[in-house]
Amino acid sequence: VVVGIVMWRQPPQHQEWKGAGTTAHFYEIILGRCYTYTQIVRPELGHKDCQKIGKAFTDAFLSKDPCSSTEQDYQPLMELTNQTVPCDKTLLWSKTNELVHEYAWVQRELFTLENTLLGYMADGLRWCGDPGSPEMNYQSCPDRWKDCSNNSVSVFWNTVSKRFAEDACGVVRVLLNGSVHNTFDERSTFARVEVFNLHPEKVHTLQAWVMQDIRNISSDSCSHASIKNLKLILSKRNITFTCENNYRPIRFLQCVKYPDHSSCRSKI
Ligand code: NAD
Repeated sequence: VVVGIVMWRQPPQHQEWKGAGTTAHFYEIILGRCYTYTQIVRPELGHKDCQKIGKAFTDAFLSKDPCSSTEQDYQPLMELTNQTVPCDKTLLWSKTNELVHEYAWVQRELFTLENTLLGYMADGLRWCGDPGSPEMNYQSCPDRWKDCSNNSVSVFWNTVSKRFAEDACGVVRVLLNGSVHNTFDERSTFARVEVFNLHPEKVHTLQAWVMQDIRNISSDSCSHASIKNLKLILSKRNITFTCENNYRPIRFLQCVKYPDHSSCRSKI
């Protein structure tokens, strides 16, 4: 009689964090997005090695403390995903996630970070590892406010946003939200990272388009205090600042969604 010994393997015990865990099928998603981007969206990047890129991505955070992530962790990934954005085509944003990507979808030559390979791969995903396990933590990941700011996701966005701004040249545009109290939010990635990493030798102008919610149009957003603050920061950095309220081409996109609104009814 053979007596089988059943070994119960405990599920890996990960540390518990206050934020949601790694996105299910994270690895398959980033790999699929890498192939979609390099084969279909931008076939000129067809030579990129997605297997290598996927491995460099997970190597950056697996088996590590998700609250002590560093720019260095992401360096190999950054080196494999370098990409040139033409001058005058960089589009930054803050608090306008949906609208900016609708606009970039129409104006195909413009690049938001999410229209570059690395931004495209990571957009909307969550990930973290655990020092005591070689696996991803699908149960929980650090919340950036309640647990730690140097978490694997935040350090990633800080690192890629920094490179995106450093690489920009010519006129840089930013799409801001004029319907929130902090249109230029000092805690945002745009304010903390991107503004300070534009190179004045290459970027002569930052052009802001401040869009208001079409259902709730108020006075000129460009004269608001937070925009004055942005203007001051840029003048100290020797970058010209221009600001346009409710830029017409983007207003038309808002009108697609609310065609009956009074500000959309006038003849073009
Ligand atoms: P925002 O406040 O509208 O934030 C945009 C999104 O990014 C939100 O979902 C926010 O939760 C997340 N985010 C921002 N900073 C983060 C951080 N440190 N850690 C984790 N998530 C973070 O606008 P923002 O902060 O100015 O960021 C937008 C600008 O920065 C853009 O110009 C873009 O190039 C870059 N960026 C993009 C993403 C993204 O999720 N695609 C995230 C961060 C930064």
